[in-house]
Amino acid sequence: MINKTQLKDLAIFNGTPAFNEKLHVGRPNIGNRDRLFERINDLLDRRWLTNNGPYVQELEQRMADMLGVKHCIPMCNGTVALEIAIRAAGLTGEVILPSFTFIATAHALQWQEITPVFCDIEPHTCTINPWRVEAMITPRTTGIIGVHLWGQTCNVEALTEIAQKHNLKLMFDAAHAFGCSHQGEMIGNFGDAEVFSFHGTKFFNTFEGGSVATNNDELAAKIRLMKNFGFAGFENVNYIGTNGKMSEVSAAMGLTGLESLDEFVAVNYRNHKQYQRELRDIPGVKLLTYNEAEKCNYQYIVLEIDQEITEFSRDQLVKILWAENILARRYFYPGCHRMEPYRSYFPHAGLLLPETERLGKRVLVLPTGTAVGIEEISQICQIIRFLVQHSHEVKQKLLYPSDESVLAH
Ligand SMILES: *Cc1c(COP(=O)(O)O)cnc(C)c1O
Repeated sequence: MINKTQLKDLAIFNGTPAFNEKLHVGRPNIGNRDRLFERINDLLDRRWLTNNGPYVQELEQRMADMLGVKHCIPMCNGTVALEIAIRAAGLTGEVILPSFTFIATAHALQWQEITPVFCDIEPHTCTINPWRVEAMITPRTTGIIGVHLWGQTCNVEALTEIAQKHNLKLMFDAAHAFGCSHQGEMIGNFGDAEVFSFHGTKFFNTFEGGSVATNNDELAAKIRLMKNFGFAGFENVNYIGTNGKMSEVSAAMGLTGLESLDEFVAVNYRNHKQYQRELRDIPGVKLLTYNEAEKCNYQYIVLEIDQEITEFSRDQLVKILWAENILARRYFYPGCHRMEPYRSYFPHAGLLLPETERLGKRVLVLPTGTAVGIEEISQICQIIRFLVQHSHEVKQKLLYPSDESVLAH
């Protein structure tokens, strides 16, 4: 570990970067290679590469068992899974969702010419604020999509009540919440459907992949047809479908990953605890904590930076960390409502999204997962602690980089 004790030790002020190699957020968790290669050999021997092969079927069964849900239909990725679930559930017109999410949640609606209506979030969970939802319902509203951001679950009870009261469909983008629970019940069981992503950066991956979990048989049957072009039998097409199928090689990765899931959680939990210990009592730096009474994948290390205290901003911190090869990310900045086409469609959306705007400027996500070790976390925390301890000089030096008197500190 490089102990940074002076401003000039910082890479942004021409010191040596703390890490030779870039430390990414969301390096994949990878299970046992031998088991993976065995499975890949098997599927090649079988010459069954896709179209609901044995590995896809096995993965579906295992996931459904693990989540205690009737259907957990494997798909080619989370975005297509969202699109198909939205279409199968019959959403049209307007759908209410948070802006504080990955852009795919909004795009999956707009792609089908459904208007995404952005709703503000609750400050403590960063999930959609049910009381704001109710105010945004119009005669065109057909549904609500909550996002279990960073594995923190939405206020499912309040949202369910509102959906029932107004006769709306309720779905969840659960891309971050595979393996998480809410009130003791696994995510996958709430609303009309919940959608997972198994993208390489997610807690559990199938290279690319996703799934739709639902306890609704009718909806599941529709989704199964839609993900396979609408085919019901070899030459019979029932309605418009697309290609949302997961391949066998992805399912092989998934089955292998599932066998190591407990280990992934254990590493993430250990990392989270270490960040918590080593970032403790740093003024202006708050680590998002998880409800330990629930199951959680601990996949995201989220910091909230209070510039009033740290003096430097979240964006400046990100820049400083990047110079050290710590590639912290601003998830999710600047919010969907500030990206195209939504920015042009709804130029004043931000007025109704004060918490989204506030948090969007304050949060950053740090590296964790099985690719990040204890030493590396110590180094990251040491740098952050040093920065806050010297916040005033850091800020001055960022403003006046050539001022040698500051450098001498
Ligand atoms: C990753 C992600 C998606 C999209 O999933 P893909 O599998 O990458 O298509 C959707 N919503 C959220 C919140 C995500 O983080």
